[in-house]
Amino acid sequence: MPAQLILLPGKERSALKRHPWLFAGSVGRLEGRARPGDTVEVLADDGRSLGRAAYSPQSQIRARFWTFDAAESVDDAFFKRRIAAAVARRAALPELAGQEGLRLIHGESDGLPGLIADRYGDTVVVQLTSAGSDKWRSAIVAALVKATGCARVFERSDSDVRRLEGLEPTTGWIHGEASSAPLAILENGVRLGIDIAGGHKTGFYLDQRDNRLLLATLAACKEVLNCFCYTGGFSLQALAGGAASVLSIDSSGPALAQARANLALNPALPAERAEWLEADVFQSLRDFKQAGRQFDLIVLDPPKFAPSAAHAERAARAYKDINLQGCRLLRPGGLLMTYSCSGGVGLELFQKIVASAALDAGRHARIVRRLAGAADHPVGLNFPEGEYLKGLLVQVD
Ligand code: SAH
Repeated sequence: MPAQLILLPGKERSALKRHPWLFAGSVGRLEGRARPGDTVEVLADDGRSLGRAAYSPQSQIRARFWTFDAAESVDDAFFKRRIAAAVARRAALPELAGQEGLRLIHGESDGLPGLIADRYGDTVVVQLTSAGSDKWRSAIVAALVKATGCARVFERSDSDVRRLEGLEPTTGWIHGEASSAPLAILENGVRLGIDIAGGHKTGFYLDQRDNRLLLATLAACKEVLNCFCYTGGFSLQALAGGAASVLSIDSSGPALAQARANLALNPALPAERAEWLEADVFQSLRDFKQAGRQFDLIVLDPPKFAPSAAHAERAARAYKDINLQGCRLLRPGGLLMTYSCSGGVGLELFQKIVASAALDAGRHARIVRRLAGAADHPVGLNFPEGEYLKGLLVQVD
């Protein structure tokens, strides 16, 4: 008999809309004993059962729903079902067919709070970010292996958010072992080496796959500037699309080393058109202006400036700055491909920031496309927080 988490009067509303998070301020009391990650039954104040959730006593997100069906038990079979269903949903989308790099599980939006799983060839990389997903590690790994047939699973549970759950970072192989061949994927014709142990997130930013491909379709004969290039995903697609030149900037030496190695993995691409710069983007954009440099197409894909709404103001200043500097460097008719992956900055705010950046740059501009994450990063309609990545393709007069 699981412990019962009883909500304060009226606080069942978000659960009735199937929002997966229960904040500490909604919780009245716990009846029975529950350790971090244990499954608790959630009851409204009037005794109505709302479902089952993972208990996180140390976190402001006090519980995360596994199921809104009070009759569904949370056990090994539950994870087998949920994980198989997520894998099947991706297999049912033709646009994802044949992708060697694929997000298999996108947390809350796949009904599995605190669980990220990315597949790179025959390797799955998992990230467990909540007490609940941490507790079910072995069931999750077994279910992933069964659903994918993958030979090996690597854990990258070293994200900062684990600390909020009272969890230590852990990384390493949890099923099978490293292959002797370096790990690489083919993404829309471009080969990319993936550093699952040392790279960002699980090693790569799979969410930008479609947007990198879009860049390839826009890049022909253009002078491209790719800011925050990481391991060169956008840069290589621009080269594949026939760019006249691609200048890529990142402040991380190891990311640039991987980017150069990635270019070498694609001998058909014109390496002489690529230039890599280890520098701070904020400074470089100013230096380029000073030097009178111009570009036809600029990509701005910065890191998360605002992890939560509390950081939104400072983040807004940073977004404004790079978009303003970017607009100034564009030739008339140029394109700005600009993103925010900050949960704390919504689409509406981001659009306002870009508008005011163009205005201050003295440039008239229009949105020609709205951009988002790829289909393997779905957004649960019950979980708007899942829509973290937003982008605009802006044509600047
Ligand atoms: N566009 C990339 C992902 C970008 S991630 C892709 O498609 O794979 C953000 C990158 O910004 C990281 O590689 C990080 O090293 C870099 N970065 C963070 N702050 C920076 C700064 N001030 N100047 C330059 N690069 C920065």
